[in-house]
Amino acid sequence: MTDCVFCKIINGEIPSASVYRDEQAYAFRDIAPAAPTHILIVPLKHIGSVNEMTEADEQIVGHLFTAAKKIAAQEGLAENGYRLIVNTNAHAGQTVFHIHLHLLGGRQLTKMG
Ligand code: 5GP
Ligand code: ZN
Repeated sequence: MTDCVFCKIINGEIPSASVYRDEQAYAFRDIAPAAPTHILIVPLKHIGSVNEMTEADEQIVGHLFTAAKKIAAQEGLAENGYRLIVNTNAHAGQTVFHIHLHLLGGRQLTKMG
């Protein structure tokens, strides 16, 4: 997707603070962190949102969670804990339409944020 910010981040057209990369996923620090650690984990494949995901994407989307687990350990968050969030469309406040996990940690999170 040529007009997608996260596709541009994945291919290096837009710089990002890299945290993790493998054959299916890339992770980088959120530009406007909502917690001491705020990382975005995205599939290399462009999937617009959960609404656009198909059963064929289950492996790729599941892979984001195992990447998140590795990143949480790498960032020293595994023991104290962290939160994974996926926003979908307007009511959830989705602003970038390339599916992503927010990984938030490093402080006590309240129930809804
Ligand atoms: P959403 O609101 O769609 O769930 O999350 C999009 C996230 O992407 C936001 O937290 C926003 O700060 C982050 N973001 C948007 N543009 C950029 C960018 O160019 N670089 C980085 N690192 N994060 C971005
Ligand atoms: Zn994209």
